[in-house]
Amino acid sequence: MAQLDIENLSKRYGDFQAVREVSLQVADGEFLVLLGPSGCGKTTTLRMVAGFIEPTAGHVKLGGRDVTLLPPWRRNAGMVFQSYALFPHLTVAQNVAFGLEMRKVARAEIAKRVDDALALVRLAGHGGRLPRQLSGGQQQRVALARALAIHPDVLLLDEPLSNLDAKLRQEVRVEIRELQQKLGLTAVMVTHDQEEALTMADRLVVMSEGAVRQVGTQRDLYERPANRFVADFVGRSTFFEGMVEAPGRFRTDGGLTLACVGGTPGRGALALRPERVGIASTAGSGLDNNLRGTVEFVSYLGALIDIHVRLSPSDRLIVHVANRDGAFVPEVGQPVHVGWPAAAAQVFNE
Ligand code: ATP
Repeated sequence: MAQLDIENLSKRYGDFQAVREVSLQVADGEFLVLLGPSGCGKTTTLRMVAGFIEPTAGHVKLGGRDVTLLPPWRRNAGMVFQSYALFPHLTVAQNVAFGLEMRKVARAEIAKRVDDALALVRLAGHGGRLPRQLSGGQQQRVALARALAIHPDVLLLDEPLSNLDAKLRQEVRVEIRELQQKLGLTAVMVTHDQEEALTMADRLVVMSEGAVRQVGTQRDLYERPANRFVADFVGRSTFFEGMVEAPGRFRTDGGLTLACVGGTPGRGALALRPERVGIASTAGSGLDNNLRGTVEFVSYLGALIDIHVRLSPSDRLIVHVANRDGAFVPEVGQPVHVGWPAAAAQVFNE
């Protein structure tokens, strides 16, 4: 495995800038996940690393070697596609051998590597089958085995789990992550699924409109989002729109005055995570913000209960209550009190 360096990588289609000067370093053995909404440029970035798309500008370096201009089969990157991209008329073993034949590996060595790769993905003994004789999850594992058989410097995964059903997806996530850690693989995965990203990554890259918005660990992105986009995209937040009147004081467009920490006077938004808000039938004390409201919506999510509270004609707050014995779960229409410490909210100036 090797370190991957992406330097000022850009892709332009006519007037449209699909990827804007993306620079990322992926350490040897690290699992990096590119996360972002549809169209943000994450797939284009991954495909430029794989060699399927030629960048307009910038460089890709694998183990210190500049591979920007090399075709896919000359850079040692193993790629797994959303669609699996298995050859339907080739057996599992022939599919896994494909990349090795392209690379002119000796026969005996190919046979050994195919067996090893199939064993790694727990498909030993399935080499003689055709892809259509396997389940979706097994086909995806064949695709993974094919990528691993070339002993890649970097493993590239393009939404590898999105064709699997929800339950299987949760299992395969853990499986891929454990395999990646066991083999010390350097890996880059693209997904738009937050939970998938959070489960699998060492570090995450949040992209929007072709650009990197923040790079960090799960905790960095959740606890210290660098901007409003990240606060909105990673996890849930309530946003109050309004003005920072003075550092520490925010006035919403609905007329609420809220205590916060810092902020530069001017227009902005106050973001608050739903689990940081307390809710009760009686007024709280000792918190920087104590407000009254009326419950408008309650949704039972299992581990969490999602409660929407109207605070003013234009201010609504989401509260998450952990579903445990004795939890206060109000009903729609019920008056309630909500509260949170100033430090629980984050101010984003416009
Ligand atoms: P998704 O999750 O939907 O695949 P993405 O973040 O992976 O989204 P990309 O596939 O990288 O997004 O595409 C980024 C942008 O570039 C999109 O707006 C897309 O329409 C545009 N784009 C991609 N390929 C081309 C192309 N060949 N010609 C023109 N525009 C393209």
